[in-house]
Amino acid sequence: MYAAKVSRKGHFRFYDRMLYENIKLRLDTEQDLTQAIREDQFELYFQPRVATRTGVLTGMEALIRWRHPTRGLIPATEFIDLAEGSGMINAIGEIVIDKVCAHLAAWLAQGIPAVPVSVNVSAHQFNDGKVKNLIAACLARHNVPARLLEIELTESAMMRNSGDIFDEISAINKMGITMYVDDFGSGYSSLSLLQRLDMDVLKVHQAFTAQLGLGKDGEIFFTAIVSMAKALDMRVVAEGVETQAQLKILQTLACDEIQGLYIVEPLAATDVPSLIAKHYLFP
Ligand code: C2E
Ligand code: MG
Ligand code: MG
Ligand code: MG
Repeated sequence: MYAAKVSRKGHFRFYDRMLYENIKLRLDTEQDLTQAIREDQFELYFQPRVATRTGVLTGMEALIRWRHPTRGLIPATEFIDLAEGSGMINAIGEIVIDKVCAHLAAWLAQGIPAVPVSVNVSAHQFNDGKVKNLIAACLARHNVPARLLEIELTESAMMRNSGDIFDEISAINKMGITMYVDDFGSGYSSLSLLQRLDMDVLKVHQAFTAQLGLGKDGEIFFTAIVSMAKALDMRVVAEGVETQAQLKILQTLACDEIQGLYIVEPLAATDVPSLIAKHYLFP
């Protein structure tokens, strides 16, 4: 309607309308997101992580999806940035951690041998000890042991924050919760920062996995990360494994764990029990 009106006046050219549509979609999404939080329109998908050598399940990553009433299932990439920019990420983050603990409690109650589930936490959530308190409250509410909950924080989020985040990370770590540096390699964290922060696992950005087998550099990069991780007593996970060739290379590089579409795609919660029942997840 708007587009028709402005084109009659001839004030707007095609890309102006595109810009307008983009802004409108953003505003609509922001408004819908407020309602989504109120009505809890979110679902979690779970992507398995396996041991690189054996294919045995070692854990799962919780990935948020938005079940929009008219737009269908919306992936995280289409609303997480907006949620971070508008401050709504705190409310969403609370929903996610609570849901993960609720799923873990339900699987435990069904006698399913629960594996640890990692949760992506935004840098905005690290504030005044909020995440630490939230985690403690959710674990207690659902009576879930801390070893089953893990936290992923992107390397760039780690870099952007300073001071306060260090204390909070170490407090979370002291609760017995494993901490991942997500999208490792996309930021510029230093060896000393990694050593100072109590991070347990480097989760290598999928862009580096994509380079494996294409030339020499990909392998060189992974070899360097693995030896650095060992020196810091950290584990290494490669994400975004999409081919058998990448899997084979990662097996020769002593990368501890892998995750990706070639192994298993993210699954709905209802599909998790049958997945856990399998011993071995290589295709
Ligand atoms: P991430 O934490 O690095 O998660 C990995 C992303 O890669 C996921 O996208 C996953 O579905 C996708 N992926 C898995 N295997 C493959 C593969 O083999 N190839 C490729 N190309 N991609 C693969 P998703 O679910 O769309 O999430 C995107 C990002 O959104 C996540 O990146 C994470 O940063 C963020 N995110 C997801 N859930 C949450 C959440 O609950 N809270 C927060 N704050 N952020 C979240
Ligand atoms: Mg992640
Ligand atoms: Mg990642
Ligand atoms: Mg530790």
